[in-house]
Amino acid sequence: TDKDINVQDVAITFHGKALVEDTEIVINYGNRYGFIGNNGCGKSTIMKAIAARAIPIPDNLDIYFLNSEYPATDISALQAVFESDDEVAALNAQAEALNNMMAEVEDDDQIGDIQTRLEGIYERLDDLDVNTAETRATSILFGLGFTTQMMQQPTKSFSGGWRMRVALARALFLKPEFLLLDEPTNHLDMEAVLWLEDYLSNWNKILFFVCHSQDFMNGVCTHIVRLDETYKKLRYYAGNYDTYVNTRRDNDKVQWAAYNAEQRDIAEVKEFIARFGHGTVKMIRQAQSREKLLAQKIEKGLVEKPEAPPQYDWSFPDAGQLPMPVLAIESLSFHYPNSADLYTNVDFGIDLQSRICLVGPNGAGKTTLVKLLCDDLQATKGQVKRHSHLKISRFTQHFEDVLDLEMTPMDFFKLKIMPTATIEQIRTLLARYGCSGDKQTQIMGQQSAGQKARIVFAKMAQDKPHILMLDEPTNPLDMESIDALARCLNSFKGGIIIISHDMRLISQVAKDIYICDDKKIERFTGDIMKFKLHQKKVNARKAMAQHKN
Ligand code: ATP
Ligand code: ATP
Repeated sequence: TDKDINVQDVAITFHGKALVEDTEIVINYGNRYGFIGNNGCGKSTIMKAIAARAIPIPDNLDIYFLNSEYPATDISALQAVFESDDEVAALNAQAEALNNMMAEVEDDDQIGDIQTRLEGIYERLDDLDVNTAETRATSILFGLGFTTQMMQQPTKSFSGGWRMRVALARALFLKPEFLLLDEPTNHLDMEAVLWLEDYLSNWNKILFFVCHSQDFMNGVCTHIVRLDETYKKLRYYAGNYDTYVNTRRDNDKVQWAAYNAEQRDIAEVKEFIARFGHGTVKMIRQAQSREKLLAQKIEKGLVEKPEAPPQYDWSFPDAGQLPMPVLAIESLSFHYPNSADLYTNVDFGIDLQSRICLVGPNGAGKTTLVKLLCDDLQATKGQVKRHSHLKISRFTQHFEDVLDLEMTPMDFFKLKIMPTATIEQIRTLLARYGCSGDKQTQIMGQQSAGQKARIVFAKMAQDKPHILMLDEPTNPLDMESIDALARCLNSFKGGIIIISHDMRLISQVAKDIYICDDKKIERFTGDIMKFKLHQKKVNARKAMAQHKN
């Protein structure tokens, strides 16, 4: 259709590095694309380039690229979402101009053309209709976790994470024809993630988004686009993430077979040439003609070697055992200064066998609990018992804070983390975490989110912790790193607490699910899949109740 994007020979370069070369960008109306690729391969940069129309995109396609939070203003969250007066005014003006034009032209084709354009404008005005706008905005905000009271609060009263949700709600409300999202599930709790999955799975325009959650992509995507870092090409796969995995495995098998066969042929020809290139005149001729054929074949292009998925080898050393109790909370209550209790009379404990996943709505106090356990915050009542030799290592949502962003990974490890190690040892260690080649000597501040996160994990392993506390560890990681993390956690000998909504990681690692809500921490009886079903039911019930009001 006239709303499809099909551009050949695209090349995008960033800071002197080619991200893609001679590739095609094919994005069809009505499809939902999940954009994947190794950390640092250039996904965010390419999204930005598309959003900025650096490639030709049909003019009639309005683009909305969500990559930053809504600004801190005096406007209420609700207004921020449905306030689109500028667009309404512009549409009305366009409609008037077209109506005037219509009165003047006589040519049937021209009239037909104007009518089509008018219909489009009226459809859009319907979408933005003030009478229904508020209801629609409210239901989107509600789905993303806002209470009726929060909707009325000015955006400046919200944290960055919540202003990100305001921006997301606005993007969904505006229903752009081409919606680009960079990691939309970050900062969301499981309830909101499930709501968004459901909402986006009904998106009937173009959706193009980067995401590292397989579960979410399975629920939403009709297509997967992969940035092949080795060949700097975009590869397209029909179907959701699981389908992609199967298709890619099958394709790779076929391609490996073709590649190996061709390489064998080439080796044979080369051997022939080497053996008979100096023989009888007849042999020499034969060798020459085979050499020519080979050159022609190479000229035409050989079968590419399939891009092998990177293999990472992450591991946390065994810090040894500690007698019980390792870490326990007894009759704890906590509140921030001048606020109501966040926890009342909580008992909770962790030992080195624990594999706990903490779930619960945003703001319920998951991060606060980790801070209490780590002695960053003190209980207002009750106590936290911690073994005196206990070492805890943490991955926080502000994970880069533990790095010195002005330094290169090599210098950082040599000077700050492993002063007695040799350069070779540090190189090997970083490479195991996926920081290899020139990334080892590139200033960390200039590396992508995922690249920085891997360095943080390499550092955490050097802490030799008994217990790991991971707050949304998968957000910045690509698929192979998530798998490396899951493998490493499964072989880790100490205790683990994860705050996450990545089903795949949780189902692989967690033994116990704890719900943090209503000032309590309670064990959920069942695994994460059961919890997901439970959460979906809760969502549905809440939506019903909201609908009745
Ligand atoms: P991730 O999955 O980790 O978020 P990404 O695929 O979105 O990564 P981008 O953030 O687009 O990748 O980064 C693309 C590349 O640009 C990375 O390899 C990064 O190291 C590089 N880069 C980013 N900023 C700079 C800079 N200021 N100077 C040089 N290179 C940079
Ligand atoms: P999220 O999933 O958004 O990270 P969470 O469950 O981890 O949420 P916390 O970050 O622990 O929640 O915050 C719990 C509550 O305490 C929130 O309402 C938050 O606004 C509030 N809060 C957090 N830090 C402070 C602080 N330093 N001072 C006052 N209130 C705070």
